[in-house]
Amino acid sequence: MTSTVLVLNCGSSSIKYQLIDPSGPTVLAKGIAERIGEPDGRVRHEIGDDVDERDAELADHAAALDDIVTAFDATGGLAERDLAAVGHRIVHGGDRFSEPVLVDDDVEEVIEELAPLAPLHNPPGLTALRLARRALPDLPHVAVFDTAFHQSLPPSAYTYALDRELASTHRVRRYGFHGTSVSYVSREAARLLELNPDDANLIVLHLGNGASATAVRGGRSVDTSMGLTPLEGLVMGTRGGDVDPGVLTYLHREAGLSVDELDEMLNRRSGMLGLAGANDMREVHRRARAGDESARLAREVYCHRIRRYVGAYLAVLGHAHAIVFTAGVGENDSWVRSHALAGMRRLGVEVDHVRNSFVSSRAHVISPDGADVRVMVVPTNEELEIARQAAELVG
Ligand code: ADP
Repeated sequence: MTSTVLVLNCGSSSIKYQLIDPSGPTVLAKGIAERIGEPDGRVRHEIGDDVDERDAELADHAAALDDIVTAFDATGGLAERDLAAVGHRIVHGGDRFSEPVLVDDDVEEVIEELAPLAPLHNPPGLTALRLARRALPDLPHVAVFDTAFHQSLPPSAYTYALDRELASTHRVRRYGFHGTSVSYVSREAARLLELNPDDANLIVLHLGNGASATAVRGGRSVDTSMGLTPLEGLVMGTRGGDVDPGVLTYLHREAGLSVDELDEMLNRRSGMLGLAGANDMREVHRRARAGDESARLAREVYCHRIRRYVGAYLAVLGHAHAIVFTAGVGENDSWVRSHALAGMRRLGVEVDHVRNSFVSSRAHVISPDGADVRVMVVPTNEELEIARQAAELVG
């Protein structure tokens, strides 16, 4: 029986897809339709050896999905691919979904109910889900949630110390994000460490545009830095992570910032962009090397925040087998890796500078031999994880 899955990852103005056979794993096709709703839409389809890149009028998500489905026509159409399922990335599953789920009308309704918790992320995912169910009605559709992996958090870690009734009425608690990535990376790390995934104690640092730290005990998430929304925790590209909540009421009263202005500042104008004027870490390094003091400070703040979470999660776990770096910055930035973990030798954490400078697209260890806590770089693959989970559910 086939295990090939079409994975759809829909954002507010783009749909990314991959056709994956997770048994290989093999990527059979991948592409993106972007700038949906703008005059200068673009598509890129890589199907087998064929690459098709062009401008396209993408009036809405329906037009973008249509372009993706018809891109397969030249090779006999998606129906000829004998797909096992369509896997959908959905950001927020609230406390309703702790596993991937087969989508029916009721599931769609629950995802819609959860939209206020992730107003930027859930609506586009739901749109793609609805359109794809209509375009490919004979296939099972599986929703995979970024929050699901963190549904194992204990109440002590997910409860905010706020008025209980107010919090419960409005479902205010820590949910955590990047779960699909952390789940994938944890299993890969355990494999490299020759540990049963259910025995692995790990600190996973997902450092991309968004960034989070997660404490994994026995293969399950027991604490994570993102909260009700993906704003809390580490310093990110345009989000600042932890701030004293009093800063917001203070800025509201003293600087006259409205709720929408505060929201915009927290989501789009803080983090590395707010501190250094650039959200891409490569550009921050370039400016820092050129002597820009704000870029230098931004890097220090970024690494200090990671160090603080690593210390906290070492305490939460008691003992970690490994600290795992992943995503754009985590996989590529040796400077961040060594600075974030500097000075922790007495905690059993050390980075070997030669191993750390080794560039590889494969998982590798960057701590010295015999280190108590291994430090690793493990490339993430959220699409493959979604394909695996979807194939497992229907298979
Ligand atoms: P997303 O969170 O959108 O999935 P990624 O995981 O691809 O993003 O991370 C993107 C970020 O990774 C970029 O904004 C950039 O800051 C960083 N990045 C990518 N390559 C490098 C590199 N070689 N060195 C340092 N940072 C990098």
